[in-house]
Amino acid sequence: MNLKLRILSFIYILILSTFYAQTDYEKSQLTEVWEPIPEIVTPGQNNLPPSDAIVLLGKDGLGEWKHEDGTEAKWRFCEGVATVVKETGLIKTQRKFGDCQLHIEWRSPSVVEEEGQGRGNSGVFLQERYEVQVLDSYDNRTYSNGQAGSIYKQYIPLLNACKGPGIWQAFDIIFKSPKFKENGELGSPGFITVLHNGVLIQNHVELKGKTVWIGEPKYEKHASKESIVLQDHGNPVSYRNIWIREL
Ligand code: MG
Repeated sequence: MNLKLRILSFIYILILSTFYAQTDYEKSQLTEVWEPIPEIVTPGQNNLPPSDAIVLLGKDGLGEWKHEDGTEAKWRFCEGVATVVKETGLIKTQRKFGDCQLHIEWRSPSVVEEEGQGRGNSGVFLQERYEVQVLDSYDNRTYSNGQAGSIYKQYIPLLNACKGPGIWQAFDIIFKSPKFKENGELGSPGFITVLHNGVLIQNHVELKGKTVWIGEPKYEKHASKESIVLQDHGNPVSYRNIWIREL
């Protein structure tokens, strides 16, 4: 073995022995990542908003919401609870959102009237287009891709986690907005995850396009941020404690 080769072997052995001389603790430190440091957020108790959330419906009325024509929201509001007033129309947030985490509590009417799609029907629309169905689906059969927690006419919920009429329930929604190219083509689809009363019912499903009642959904280009919409389907469904975190 020539001298150069001997020196190289020596260095190689030195490096190896240095590594193996390290304690397990020192080796474990090699894979520790210390930056960035996640910001501190104070979680809310009992599903109240965490410190970094935007409150869309709290105790202060319907100031965040307007009807489609831009007029003040005419839904009934009392002590933090907003209730659909038939034929006043949908309400939408004045602020606009892209990717988000949305908490929303809703209650179907305690007096049960009608059945199927006529019982406690409303809806939460992400970006004014993609509906998570609100319906009294407690002992109320309808088409499965139109029951509570369905992505309306696109995805059946994994389970029926509905509470009875007149009882407050919650959706926690994680939304990834679709992205569009300059020419209007879809760049990447939207995705949605929904927990209903803490139960996972939509697991990162890929949106097929805008929610439609008739025909197949398809995408149409829209802005990267749009409003949250609550549907007036003619039933006095109530909402409270709505908050959102932009992602
Ligand atoms: Mg609906």
